[in-house]
Amino acid sequence: MPYKDKETAKKKNKEYRERNKEQIRANQRNWYLRNKEKIKDYFQKWSADHKEQQREYERKYEEKLKIVVLGHYGFGEPKCVICKEARLPCLSIDHINGCGRKHREQLHNAGGKAFYRWLKQNSFPAGYQTLCMNCQFVKKFNSKKEAGCSTQSK
Ligand SMILES: [Zn+2]
Repeated sequence: MPYKDKETAKKKNKEYRERNKEQIRANQRNWYLRNKEKIKDYFQKWSADHKEQQREYERKYEEKLKIVVLGHYGFGEPKCVICKEARLPCLSIDHINGCGRKHREQLHNAGGKAFYRWLKQNSFPAGYQTLCMNCQFVKKFNSKKEAGCSTQSK
């Protein structure tokens, strides 16, 4: 009867393990010591792969965040409010009263994702708009009085 055999085998196996507990433990330990480097490599590789996944996840999150913020300040669409440019890499948030750089310095970062996060966390404060690089450049060119911007923020 196979069932009985199986049961017996299981029982014998258990007995064997019970009798040779120390030996088995030593074997396991030896196996670990022999393969220590391999195991280390494996985990290092695993964690590197995982980092890649993590970065990919963050990149997607930042992209989504950027679309949400640019959409809010582009009157409902991630587009330049002046020329309607819609290519994402061309778009960024412009500080309407021209104090963008100063404000970003206050936020301790050089623009980019932390700024987008800050805008979202602060429920999209007024005073910003979505502009493309060209329109930002033209705006800067046209208003050299920008230097005299007020210190008001938010
Ligand atoms: Zn534009």
